[in-house]
Amino acid sequence: MDYQKIYKSIDDKQEEYFDIARKMYENPELAYNEVKACEWIAESLKRHGFEVETGVYGIATAIRATWGKGHPIIGVLAEYDALPGLSQKQNTAFDPVIPGGPGHGCGHNLLGVATLAGAIAMKEDLEANGLEGTVVYYGCPAEEVVTGKPFMARGGAFKELDLAIAYHPGGKQGVSGGVMCGLNSAIFHFKGKTAHAGGNPWQGRSALDAAEIMSVGANYLREHIEDGIRIHYAYKEAGTAPNIVPDRASVWYYVRAFTRDAVESTYNRLVKCAEGAAHMTETELEVEFLGGCYETLPNATIARVLHDSLEEVPLVEWTEEEKAWADAMNKNSALYKGEDVEPFNDKLEPISYERGSGSTDVGDVQHIVPCAMYTTTTANNLCGGHTWLITCCAGNSIGFKGMLRGAKIMAVSAGKFYRDPALVKEAKENFEKDMAGKTYKCPIPDDIAIPQPK
Ligand SMILES: [Zn+2]
Repeated sequence: MDYQKIYKSIDDKQEEYFDIARKMYENPELAYNEVKACEWIAESLKRHGFEVETGVYGIATAIRATWGKGHPIIGVLAEYDALPGLSQKQNTAFDPVIPGGPGHGCGHNLLGVATLAGAIAMKEDLEANGLEGTVVYYGCPAEEVVTGKPFMARGGAFKELDLAIAYHPGGKQGVSGGVMCGLNSAIFHFKGKTAHAGGNPWQGRSALDAAEIMSVGANYLREHIEDGIRIHYAYKEAGTAPNIVPDRASVWYYVRAFTRDAVESTYNRLVKCAEGAAHMTETELEVEFLGGCYETLPNATIARVLHDSLEEVPLVEWTEEEKAWADAMNKNSALYKGEDVEPFNDKLEPISYERGSGSTDVGDVQHIVPCAMYTTTTANNLCGGHTWLITCCAGNSIGFKGMLRGAKIMAVSAGKFYRDPALVKEAKENFEKDMAGKTYKCPIPDDIAIPQPK
């Protein structure tokens, strides 16, 4: 495999890629509303010869684009949604464009475009070398609410693949071999009866009481769940004034655990807390199930191939200006403790088998086909996760250069699988072993509607 040719395919089009990533940084769109991002990426895929469908699987902003024929069929998983509240200008200190506005605090603009550049380089590699194989670019909306890929899977996505590769930008280089949590997300709405809280409270039935009692129940439940299971919540609606008995209250819960079974059994017990609270307070309960995802299941073969590629593909050469920018950001990070710190963390660690208590809906894909995920450095050393620092670097040369390295690792890794059927076979055998006794069942029931753009 001619690595230089793959690098050139990506470097030659860097202005096009930087332009799309910059536009996405300037127009951050939240989950299920990634209308422009979807359009810009779909346009580029078409221009580069892919057959492109948008609005697939009933999701307005999902993309399925293919090139090539025959096996192996390799999928690449793109995301492009922003996060609320993480708007940030090009400034090394916290400085939102719109206070409280959305921003790419997880770098998904870089994720979507690295995957685009990777897919195009995979196509050009197949084409130039007359190799058999197919590239599938999946544009996966709404990762930040971890339901995009489960909804796509419900619609039949991913199972056509021999294997999939997932990339994520961030503060370091590496491949995760450890398990991240599965999750369920639901809002519990209580409906009571209002009354004057001073005048005739006996006629009121407080929805807020119900929400609070549910949370008391949930907090007692914590004693009787296995280690590592997380339950967290935020109030969405909690009354308007003390002298009005609240007739509406809503509380939003996440349940996270390292197996799908543990998520579901804990979630079912949480629903009992809500039902009990409604019973006690003579209020009505409505459960709005928003969705859920699987825990991750990194494929050992793909993880190894990705890690090799992370070693082989040259690191980004940072300019003095970029280093100074990253230094200034490190000093403004909440993680800074006055220590000497390198501007960037470019050290490649061995494959990490640590458990992570975060979640990603890449886990669903990993229960359908062999798949693993890697990261490249696209931000300053102390950027943290879901921060204004990540947003800032996602809009400048630091993020853009890290993104191109991400694309190169993707295309080089895919090139190894396209050239070596035994490697594909090994990935599949590992997948069969990992899935022994398990079957994938979409965590989102058929009657839950897919959110549409607002
Ligand atoms: Zn992310």
